[in-house]
Amino acid sequence: MSPIAQTVAFIGLGNMGGGMAANLVKAGYTIQAFDLSAEALSRAVGSGCRSAMSARAAVQDADIVVTMLPAGAHVRSVYADTIIPHAARSTLLIDSSTIDVATARSVAADALSAGLDAVDAPVSGGIAAAQAGTLTFMAGGTEVAYLRAVPVLKAMGKTVIRAGSNGAGQAAKIANNMLLGATMAATCEAFVLAQKLGLDPQKFYDIASISSGQSWSMTSYCPLPGIGPESPADRDYQGGFAATLMLKDLKLALDAANHVGAEVPMGKRAAALYDHLVESGQGEFDFSALIKLHQTNSV
Ligand code: NAD
Repeated sequence: MSPIAQTVAFIGLGNMGGGMAANLVKAGYTIQAFDLSAEALSRAVGSGCRSAMSARAAVQDADIVVTMLPAGAHVRSVYADTIIPHAARSTLLIDSSTIDVATARSVAADALSAGLDAVDAPVSGGIAAAQAGTLTFMAGGTEVAYLRAVPVLKAMGKTVIRAGSNGAGQAAKIANNMLLGATMAATCEAFVLAQKLGLDPQKFYDIASISSGQSWSMTSYCPLPGIGPESPADRDYQGGFAATLMLKDLKLALDAANHVGAEVPMGKRAAALYDHLVESGQGEFDFSALIKLHQTNSV
C-alpha cells in the first residue's frame, strides 16, 4: 500500500512526537492525532495532522498506530484501555517511547494475542533530530512486523535497525544510553582533570580526540564550550538531551540490570551523578552540563 493510502494514528505529540508526526505528514501519510494536551494537539494540526476527539477515535480505521509517550505506565494504559480493544485486527502498532523492556514485551504479547502486529522502536536522537527526520530507530519485533514498520520509520528517521524480537529495541536503547551516560561522565571529569593539571582544554581535545580516550561524547558532543563541533555546551547547555531524560534512561537500565542479574557499577555511578545534577535544579539542561558539577568540585 502506498503511504498516501495509509492512515497513522499518532498518540503523544509532545517534544518528540510533534516533529515525528509532521514528518509523516510530509511523507504523505494521513495522520489522526491525539494528545491529552490541547496545546500539543493544536501544534500537530498546524503541521497538517487531523485532530482526533479521543485516542479511541484516532485508532479506529488506522492502518498503523504510533505511540510516543512519556513512560511505561502511559504505554501500558493506552495499549490496554484503547489500542488493543479498539484497533482493527492486523493493525501494526509501533511504540517509539523509551520504556522498560518488561512492559515492551508484555504489551507486545497482548497485542499479538489480539491479532495485532507490534514493534517496539525507541529512538536515538533528540528533539532536533525528530524535527529533521534524522532519528535512529532500534526496533524489536518479528521480521514480518519489522518489515511492515520500516517505511513509516524511514519517513521519520535516517537509520532503522532491527535489534531482535519484541523488547530488543528497548534493550538496545537503554544499554546504549547507559554507555552514553557513563562516557559523558568520564569525559567531563577528564577535561576538568586535564585543566586542573594545567593543560589547555583545546590541546587536551586535540590529543585525546585522536587517542584511545576518544568517544562520541568528546568528538561529537564536547561538554566544554568552544571545543569540537557545535554542541549544547556552546548554547549554555540549552536544548539537546535533558539531564532528567538521561536519568530516566539510566534508571531503566539499572532496573533491567537488576532484573537479569547483570552487574553495572559504571551505570550505577553515572545514575548517581545525574541524580545529583537533577537534584541541584539543573535537570532541564543538556546532560553534558554534568561538567559544571566537576568544575565546582560538587560531585
Ligand atoms: P513529552 O512529555 O514532550 O511528550 C509526551 C506527550 O504525551 C505529551 O504531549 C503528553 O501530553 C502526551 N501524553 C501523555 N499521556 C498521554 C495519553 N494517555 N494519551 C495521549 N497523550 C498522552 O515527551 P518527549 O520528550 O516527546 O518524549 C517522549 C518519549 O520519547 C519519552 O519516552 C522519552 O523518554 C523519549 N525520548 C525523548 C527524547 C528527547 O530528547 N525529548 C529523546 C529520545 C527519546
